Amino acid sequence: MSGPIDLHTHSSVSDGTETPAQLVRAAVEAGLGTIAITDHDSTAGWQMAQAAASGTGLTVIPGMELSTRYGWKSVHLLAYLVDPLNADLIAETARIRAARLTRAENIVARIAADYDLSWDDVLAQTMDGATVGRPHIADALVARGHVPTRSAAFESILHPRTGYFEPHYAPDPLTAVRLVRSAGGVPVLAHPATRGRSAVIPEERLKALVEAGLFGLEIEHRENTASGKVRLRELAERYGLVATGSSDYHGDGKPNLLGENTTSPEVLEQIIAEGTGSTPFNPSAGRP
Ligand code: AMP
Ligand code: ZN
Ligand code: FE
Ligand code: FE
Repeated sequence: MSGPIDLHTHSSVSDGTETPAQLVRAAVEAGLGTIAITDHDSTAGWQMAQAAASGTGLTVIPGMELSTRYGWKSVHLLAYLVDPLNADLIAETARIRAARLTRAENIVARIAADYDLSWDDVLAQTMDGATVGRPHIADALVARGHVPTRSAAFESILHPRTGYFEPHYAPDPLTAVRLVRSAGGVPVLAHPATRGRSAVIPEERLKALVEAGLFGLEIEHRENTASGKVRLRELAERYGLVATGSSDYHGDGKPNLLGENTTSPEVLEQIIAEGTGSTPFNPSAGRP
């Protein structure tokens, strides 16, 4: 494997704007050597991404970004190389996706009291079977002309402070780490420092996640603050966690660009050695 490694990307199977095949083409064009496809709460894009990567030299690591929740705080857990047929994982992700759907309908019903917006508008922005989220509501608000961009929708109508927002069911992070491990996967906490050093997970709670099998922290991510990253590096060192870097690319849906942050080949090798639920696609591409 050679070329830059980006271990966090989204397709239209969740809230990215490109199909898995388009995502793969974009990664090849960006000159990447490896991407992980990490749609929210779904493995439905894996086959399409892997088929599109065939013959390109791009390695695709099968992954997922699992929604978890700690009190009111949404915590994202990257899960690499899980077994997509693991019954507990299938049941839990189905439960989360169903809760996301009901929650999105509730948010839309509240917005519809004040803005011209229907559930059909949201469905028109959502690929069949996709994991629904606020980004799809944002796209519907853009299509209706209420806001100029997806990001503008997040800063206004979809922001929790407006009163339209509600959270959705998700397992707590400890349960999620155990679930990923029991499905043969490698759990890495996604963007764990978006709110600064003091808001980084308390050490005692991190310790419990490490004991349950947490493998790494996504440190290089544009939404982690500088002081937060310093804290994450301390914690990674202290608990023997790997440090990853990635873009969290969402196509046109977010400014994040493929390969804007990357993970070292050594860390990728460790992740691959650790994961037993599935295997990278094109693992030997580029090798002599
Ligand atoms: P939700 O999970 O439904 O509450 O929506 C939050 C998700 O929207 C996060 O995973 C973000 O990465 C994603 N998202 C996609 N595009 C944007 C954007 N332009 N601004 C903010 N969040 C976004
Ligand atoms: Zn997303
Ligand atoms: Fe996330
Ligand atoms: Fe993400």
